[in-house]
Amino acid sequence: MDVTKTEKPHIAVLASPGLGHVIPLFELAKRLVIDHDCRVSFLAITTNEASAAQDQILRSPTIPYDLDVVNLPFVDVFAVAAPDITVVARLCVIVEESLKSLKSVLIELGKPTAVVIDLFCTQAFDVCSELSIPAYSFFTASTALLTYCLCLPTYDREVEGEYVDLPEPVKVPGCSEIRTEDLLDQVKNRKIDEYKWFFFHVSRLPMASGIFMNTWDDLEPICIKAIKENAFYKQIPTPQVFPVGPLIKQDEPLSDRDVEILSWLDKQPPESVLFISLGSGGTLTMEQLSELAWGLELSQQRFVFVVRNPTQSSASASFFNVGSDVNDPKAYLPEGFSERTRERGLVVPSWASQVAVLKHASTGGFLSHCGWNSTLESLSHAVPMICWPLYAEQRMNATILAEQVGVAIKPKVDSEQTVVGREEIKRVVKLLMEGDEGKIMRQKARKLKESAAKTLKIGGSSYNSFARVVNEWKTWIPGSDSFEDM
Ligand code: UDP
Repeated sequence: MDVTKTEKPHIAVLASPGLGHVIPLFELAKRLVIDHDCRVSFLAITTNEASAAQDQILRSPTIPYDLDVVNLPFVDVFAVAAPDITVVARLCVIVEESLKSLKSVLIELGKPTAVVIDLFCTQAFDVCSELSIPAYSFFTASTALLTYCLCLPTYDREVEGEYVDLPEPVKVPGCSEIRTEDLLDQVKNRKIDEYKWFFFHVSRLPMASGIFMNTWDDLEPICIKAIKENAFYKQIPTPQVFPVGPLIKQDEPLSDRDVEILSWLDKQPPESVLFISLGSGGTLTMEQLSELAWGLELSQQRFVFVVRNPTQSSASASFFNVGSDVNDPKAYLPEGFSERTRERGLVVPSWASQVAVLKHASTGGFLSHCGWNSTLESLSHAVPMICWPLYAEQRMNATILAEQVGVAIKPKVDSEQTVVGREEIKRVVKLLMEGDEGKIMRQKARKLKESAAKTLKIGGSSYNSFARVVNEWKTWIPGSDSFEDM
């Protein structure tokens, strides 16, 4: 067959809504264009819950020439999601509605060479199969979670009752055990839609032609080796996996407030500032926020503190409305906090460009909710962490970082208490910023920074994994059912 193989592969990349998904999928799209000479259509799910931060990313003037953002037809969130729906169930009904248009969009785009989707878009596997387009998954969390997810259909068959009530930690073959209290929120109650949606998507992962993972060999050596060697899935069909990370935001558009933060950081000593930010969704109760502020003040350390309106309702209350709420920190921080800490701290309402702060030489620690993107961003800039897990799989991530990688510390919470007290906060902040343990963690984080940079360069393991798949795409014969060399 006479096939022109010099044409660039055209890849459609599809993210579900939420910055934790859009950011890594968009970075993957950029890598495909910049490093691997592909053409990419980035399919964006559009709703009436537009986020200013997401718009900034997708409309940045620095987007490369061969990367087009294609908006899928608008979804009215209020028409498809009940007001009291949980976070993942909500996301999944929005995606399901949006993907009704996927087939016609892919045909209109001239049937791309391949499609890359994130976890909550697996309806795309059926559409792609109908159109004979290979569909890949990009798993944007840890390999530890991926292996757990691949085992979930087995657990679902074999375990009676709730996973969180099991007397022993969960054994994930080839990886470390997961303590039941660290299990992700989505599997805590098997009777509700949150679990059903999560299960629906993870049980379809084996339908992928391959799974990209946002991690690299040195960060999760044991789990990656196990999953690559398919050591533990004799009965579980596991697609080929490709660690291509850490894919993190490189350059961010800066707001006026970001510029102020960076110029304040310019005036601080190297590695002296603790950055506090709880992802795109994280919120605290009034009591916890107050203890955190007091703990910071008592620690006498420098800080940049991103604060959101406290709430009792959920630990991820600002997930879908970042930046859109009225936020006056004086209304909820301890009286006089900003004045008393003016010399050594900055309070930032709602949002700060996190990578720009982590990249700055004055930043020496990160109190983080341990979302996977935040984790990768911190380690890529050699910043050790204080773990403050709030929702999703963040407790698992915190355990990996503190107990396996050794780059983070977890505050202690008495089993009776639900709030971390100011004295404990003071202790962990001082320990991270000026204690010997903090120095050891910083050394480890520096090593990971070096290895993260190396793995993404030509010849590095993540670069090579990516190149392998792209080479397969380059030999794809349009209209056939398979790759030439597979
Ligand atoms: N982020 C940011 N500024 C903030 C809060 C979050 O730039 O004030 C970005 C952060 O850099 C990361 C993403 O939002 O890329 C959050 O993703 P992550 O996976 O850490 O957590 P999620 O928001 O999904 O819980």
